[in-house]
Amino acid sequence: MRRGTRSGLFTMVAVHSTVRGRALGGCRMWRYDDSRSAVRDALRLSRAMTYKSAVADLPLGGGKGVIALPPDAVVDSKRRKAVLLDFADTVERLGGSYITAEDVGTSSRDMTVIAQRTRHVTGLVRSRGGSGDPSPFTALGVEAAILATCERAFGSTSLAGRSVALIGLGHVGLRLARLLSRRKAKLIVADIDPAKRGEAERLGARWTTSEKAMTAPVDLLAPCALGGVLDHESVPSLQVPAVAGAANNQLAAEAIADLLAARGILWAPDFVANAGGIINIAVELEPSGYDPGRARKRVRGIGDTMRAIYDRAEAGSTTPLTAAMELARKRVSSPSA
Ligand code: NAD
Repeated sequence: MRRGTRSGLFTMVAVHSTVRGRALGGCRMWRYDDSRSAVRDALRLSRAMTYKSAVADLPLGGGKGVIALPPDAVVDSKRRKAVLLDFADTVERLGGSYITAEDVGTSSRDMTVIAQRTRHVTGLVRSRGGSGDPSPFTALGVEAAILATCERAFGSTSLAGRSVALIGLGHVGLRLARLLSRRKAKLIVADIDPAKRGEAERLGARWTTSEKAMTAPVDLLAPCALGGVLDHESVPSLQVPAVAGAANNQLAAEAIADLLAARGILWAPDFVANAGGIINIAVELEPSGYDPGRARKRVRGIGDTMRAIYDRAEAGSTTPLTAAMELARKRVSSPSA
């Protein structure tokens, strides 16, 4: 954790594990009440990255970067560039044990600025040989997770005529909606931004509110907006047999996985379903360089990972969350597992 000489702001990196490889995780630029909350976030998120990469069977460890903005800081473009360069120095000081990428609050263009001071950066724009925007790959991976989830819940991967309630038509959600619509799923969609309604209509999807989408009697719910949507209040009112979406940290607490299972609702662990972005970045780090075709192939493998997790959960009479965490822990404690 360092206070940037250019910006005067705190930049930090948490390296949770390098057992399976260098620690990869995005750089979050966010407002925090104090630096202690920012450190806590970096630690929590870096741990999650270890599990995400281990379940995806990537040769990577888990880390996370945080640029902590005070609640009232004014960050104009000059100070933004300054703090990105400060962050880059922090990354460089770790000598490559941590590799950064974009995350909430940062973009591929920001990665280009960071690249001025360190080589340990991924997710650069395509014109710089990077893998660019990860969202299409995340959407592709979530589609694969949905197919595997439908296969388990309904005995078929066909989405023709299946109803899906999708919440959040953002970078990932809109692309996912297009993929599902191509597979002839019946879509009900919601977003707090009314400007997204036109996109929904172009897809032939029914537009509704997030509250109604959450309790719609459909075949599958796909949360693609914010985390924490599955909690003690929302889960009892769900009317779906399956949930699989892109949003990070969908469960308000780990115990919610038990509540879902007790209600007979199959839940695709979010960090398995939404690993397409990191799988794409891992391809960028391969010696042969980035290739989108290879990335797409790897990302579609999320379907098989999800099937393996459902198998493990069934065999061990446990939840998919526990099965996924056990698989990750096993791979971290014995990297060749
Ligand atoms: P985004 O900001 O582009 O889209 C989020 C969308 O959700 C926006 O359209 C926003 O208006 C909408 N939204 C916010 N609150 C809402 C609410 N209460 N009800 C309905 N809609 C709401 O973000 P994104 O990149 O598409 O990411 C979506 C989710 O997927 C996030 O949880 C993110 O952490 C996760 N994720 C994204 C990626 C990626 O590659 N972008 C990778 C892994 C995980």
